[in-house]
Amino acid sequence: MVKPRRIGLFGGTFDPVHIGHLRGALEVVEQFRLDELRLIPSARPPHRDTPQVAAAARLAMVELAVNGVAALTVDDRELRRDKPSYTIDTLESLRGELAADDQLYLLLGWDAFCGLPTWHRWEELLDHCHILVLQRPDADSEPPEALRNLLAARSSTDPQAIDGPSGQIAIVWQTPLAVSATQIRQLLVNGKSAQFLVPDAVLAYIHTHGLYRALN
Ligand code: ATP
Repeated sequence: MVKPRRIGLFGGTFDPVHIGHLRGALEVVEQFRLDELRLIPSARPPHRDTPQVAAAARLAMVELAVNGVAALTVDDRELRRDKPSYTIDTLESLRGELAADDQLYLLLGWDAFCGLPTWHRWEELLDHCHILVLQRPDADSEPPEALRNLLAARSSTDPQAIDGPSGQIAIVWQTPLAVSATQIRQLLVNGKSAQFLVPDAVLAYIHTHGLYRALN
């Protein structure tokens, strides 16, 4: 019998990708012994402003960031879709390609998790995947009312014991990095350095293409 695969999914605008995303992703791969973690840049995120930089450039930066890191890969399916990037659609599309017992782990930063009740068909997400919530040092600590029951019913007291293809939630410890793409865009527009907050290859791409010189 083929062993089920353990696949992580991490969506975002990645405008630009930074060490908060990358370190969190790598730590989750190691803690949860994932076979692969896919970073999934979103096209037109339904919940937020239009990204400042074109999809192709955001994708190129994510590809540069994970180059040479075997466990981290890039999945561009949301950029190939001519519709808003609903996570439920991405999960259904992925599930269509995987074995039924493959395990999917959707990574969400705490801020993204707290916004879950506004997501399209959010109550169906756990039918397709587990949810791993990454702490963010810059985020509020209380979940919204609508998520308390879900957390009580689906949280695993031992995240390492999560098993099966879908259905559980774990709050994941990771090295706290209070970095955001907003902060990086602001540094760059003010002519300051973003070195050590994004990988060198991403910084070189930003400079070569003259990105983030002005706030839209
Ligand atoms: P922006 O500042 O433009 O809102 P961002 O830095 O929050 O961007 P996104 O691309 O919106 O980055 O985030 C994608 C995912 O990564 C979200 O689930 C978000 O919560 C998570 N995330 C972003 N930064 C961090 C961080 N420093 N630590 C943990 N999770 C993070």
